[in-house]
Amino acid sequence: MDSQAREQLIRAVAATIFQHSEELTALDQAIGDGDHGLNLKRGFEAVTAELPGLAEKSWPDLLKAAGMAMVMKVGGASGPLFGTFFMELGKTVGAEPDRAAVVAAFGKAVEAVKARGRSEAGQKTLLDVLVPVQAALAAGADAAAIKAEAIAAADKTVPMQAIRGRASFLGERSVGHMDPGARSSSLIIATVADELNK
Ligand code: ADP
Ligand code: MG
Ligand code: MG
Repeated sequence: MDSQAREQLIRAVAATIFQHSEELTALDQAIGDGDHGLNLKRGFEAVTAELPGLAEKSWPDLLKAAGMAMVMKVGGASGPLFGTFFMELGKTVGAEPDRAAVVAAFGKAVEAVKARGRSEAGQKTLLDVLVPVQAALAAGADAAAIKAEAIAAADKTVPMQAIRGRASFLGERSVGHMDPGARSSSLIIATVADELNK
């Protein structure tokens, strides 16, 4: 993938987040503090502001820079979690990643998010998307299957009760709403899958 393709990929992910910002905010209004759409919008504005230079960096440097921007601009719970995810990907993925390298790096990044959030799958968080997507990746799923898995996994957070994050303060009242971080993660993964499938 050349720098032009990397720039297109980053712009596509940012555009998805901008398009869904209100939806993400509405989800967070239901079970959180209503800022998730705005938080991620701010993060991806910071990332796109670094284009085209950012896309000229190697994958490791690009991902580390994007992760740093997330930590600094997004704030809240999700900033450090998304930031950790991208920075850890950058640390392990290597300059010319093949599928095996992506699977390994994604696995490490998921573990880093678990450690950072002191959380695991089943607690109604973004990990309920990242963990099944990691399993699908490791099992050799193609881009279309990974996209479908991500979207379905976010839907499966609806009946869950939140055990981590602000939504956990609601206890049983968190049931019946999709987790905002799971939804945003699924949108990012779906967009990457679409772009890689083009
Ligand atoms: P905040 O809750 O600080 O306002 P956001 O609204 O941006 O931050 O992000 C909320 C999302 O962060 C949740 O929907 C959930 O997916 C994720 N999240 C919160 N706490 C944790 C945690 N400890 N582990 C994993 N994910 C978490
Ligand atoms: Mg919030
Ligand atoms: Mg907040």
